[in-house]
Amino acid sequence: MDFILLGPPGAGKGTQAKLMIDKWDIPQVSTGDILRAAVREGTPLGVEAKGFMDRGELVPDRVVIGIIAERLKEKDAAHGFILDGFPRTIPQAEALQEILDGLGRDIDHVISIEVDDEELVTRLTGRRMCKACGESFHVVFNPPVEEGVCDRCKGELYQRDDDREQTIRQRLSVYSEQTRPLIAYYEKQGKLRRIEGTGSIDNIFSRVVKAAGN
Ligand SMILES: [Zn+2]
Repeated sequence: MDFILLGPPGAGKGTQAKLMIDKWDIPQVSTGDILRAAVREGTPLGVEAKGFMDRGELVPDRVVIGIIAERLKEKDAAHGFILDGFPRTIPQAEALQEILDGLGRDIDHVISIEVDDEELVTRLTGRRMCKACGESFHVVFNPPVEEGVCDRCKGELYQRDDDREQTIRQRLSVYSEQTRPLIAYYEKQGKLRRIEGTGSIDNIFSRVVKAAGN
């Protein structure tokens, strides 16, 4: 089971990834995590990546792809993996295909968790944090007893800048622009599985399982 997992911020991708890991006993391969691991372990590509990161530069595709290729050869990924945050572009998708061809395997399913933008805005802008103790609430899904006041310590609740509507809409639009070509690419290959990301966590997961054909 070789998966790519796609989904906008707030779609619940992390939650579904955890369930997929448990069901299929496969690792989640997230670019940020494996880059940090390669740097920590001091692999040749990790050392190279560190150089770019220390200079505040973006780690080039060639290095990221090399690190992913190494990761996918590890034992725990022998029966499958969930790629998260990679590929983001068509050239990366093509490079990934080359890696997989070399390993004699292929992406089985590109799981795209889809949620309407307005629903995502509701989910993401509703978060409120306590200034005093850091407790988090949601105006719709987990409201405090008294509006604007922390249940735990009576502190004042506020909205983080990251959770403001304008910021959220910007992130959603970046995601959709960035992902559109990839969606088309995998759709053409017959690998795209669109999953409706609303309803209970279990409901959504049953759609993922069905889409994966087992
Ligand atoms: Zn509090």
